[in-house]
Amino acid sequence: MSRAWVDLVYLIAAVLFILGLKGLTHPRTAVRGNLMGAVAMLLAVLVTLVDQQVLGAGVFGYFLIFLGMAIGTGIGVWLAITIRLESMPELVALFNGLGGAASFVVAGAYVWANDHSGPEAIGLEISFATAASGLIGAVTLTGSLVAFAKLAGHPLLKKMPLIPNSTVVNAIAGGVTLLLALLCAVSRSYDLWFWVLVLASLGLGYCLTISIGGADMPVVIALLNSYSGLAAAATGFVLENNVLIIAGSLVGASGLILTQIMCKAMNRSLTNVLFGTLGPTGDTKDADEVYQNVKATGPDEVAMLLDVARRVVIVPGYGMAVAQAQHAVRDLANFLMDKGIEVEYGIHPVAGRMPGHMNVLLAEADIPYELLKEMDEINTSMEQTDVCLVIGANDTVNPDARQANSAIAGMPIIDADKARTCVVIKRSLSPGFAGIPNPLFSADNALMLFADGKQAVLDILSALKEG
Ligand code: NDP
Repeated sequence: MSRAWVDLVYLIAAVLFILGLKGLTHPRTAVRGNLMGAVAMLLAVLVTLVDQQVLGAGVFGYFLIFLGMAIGTGIGVWLAITIRLESMPELVALFNGLGGAASFVVAGAYVWANDHSGPEAIGLEISFATAASGLIGAVTLTGSLVAFAKLAGHPLLKKMPLIPNSTVVNAIAGGVTLLLALLCAVSRSYDLWFWVLVLASLGLGYCLTISIGGADMPVVIALLNSYSGLAAAATGFVLENNVLIIAGSLVGASGLILTQIMCKAMNRSLTNVLFGTLGPTGDTKDADEVYQNVKATGPDEVAMLLDVARRVVIVPGYGMAVAQAQHAVRDLANFLMDKGIEVEYGIHPVAGRMPGHMNVLLAEADIPYELLKEMDEINTSMEQTDVCLVIGANDTVNPDARQANSAIAGMPIIDADKARTCVVIKRSLSPGFAGIPNPLFSADNALMLFADGKQAVLDILSALKEG
């Protein structure tokens, strides 16, 4: 295939990537956007496979390529079929990590295969791109594996050592890794220094992520997503492959924008997230102390409250995803709206375990997008809300965030406690992701409905229908 044809198909793929990204900015066009991205990737892979220049690099042969593709496709299809929707965030973390790993392995293999005719065989700019791919790709791999363990609450997490004085250690590890990257790029000795750099960067990724806790993980997930794109773009420079540079840069840039949005949602600066820690502090109150005034309720009482309400706000959280309650929630909301009750949903930007988690779930249940209100908008009408129904949310409605000494101080929340009555549906008084008690559960205007999210909503709906 001639260079001109390869470049033309790459150009079409790049345009499709950009249009696909644009489509992903709105739920209505998201499916089409996703499809465009997939078609673009297919075009890019196919044309790369028939591009003789790639095979001419000597590292790759069709047998190995197809073997790799078969193994990767098998794992991908198996994961896509078996993964439960609430485990998507963990899957995304793993995909980010594998993307980082693929980038540094490909860059490493390429320079290794082209390094035999002396240092001049590879230009300095390619050498820097190789070092960047090794550094960023390896940081992405271990960072994402730690993020995966944190999101999944994996038992291995308990065995992973925490880093004492993490700020100092991270700064030293970062400095050493940068020096190694410089050494690798300038010396152009890839047999040794590239892999030493990769090892050091794997350690750096672990150090940077293991100490990040509390509610800061959304920022880390977005950042790792961006890193995986930057690593791919660096590898694109190594291979001089335009479509990889473009696709990697798009992922890198959109990941950075998402990081900024997540930082804003958490009211934190990026430096604060990376070099500070957030989690239970010495000032964190004991759960027994916080939960002295908890009032339990049942589906019948909640149905009576909803029956006489004029305005209801539903606040979904991670527990709604676990319970897969979105369809039941839609049916309850439709029933209330048919009775003339105003119903809206309050969506916190970091509710759930991945950016946009609640929007995806509610869209899956065909809940009209117009009913989903962002945190700032819904908060303006919370005091005029008769019943706020919190379903499986915890940290995102924790009024403790307003206290300066809180572990989640400064994190904006949905003001569920300001509604006339707040009903919280969850199975127990267990904490959310940040691991701290929530004073909302014992507020004077709060009632706790201890049950699985889906079952509770179904029970309320049948009580309403009977009543
Ligand atoms: P939380 O994680 O704070 O709380 C979820 C609650 O759901 C738990 O307290 C749990 O209580 C309850 N729950 C679990 N299963 C069920 C069930 N089957 N039925 C009913 N309730 C259930 O959720 P939020 O959405 O409020 O907050 C998200 C947190 O995750 C934030 O701290 C955020 O920073 C963090 N995070 C967000 C990411 C993102 O990108 N969105 C990424 C990583 C972390 P119980 O066990 O008692 O039922």
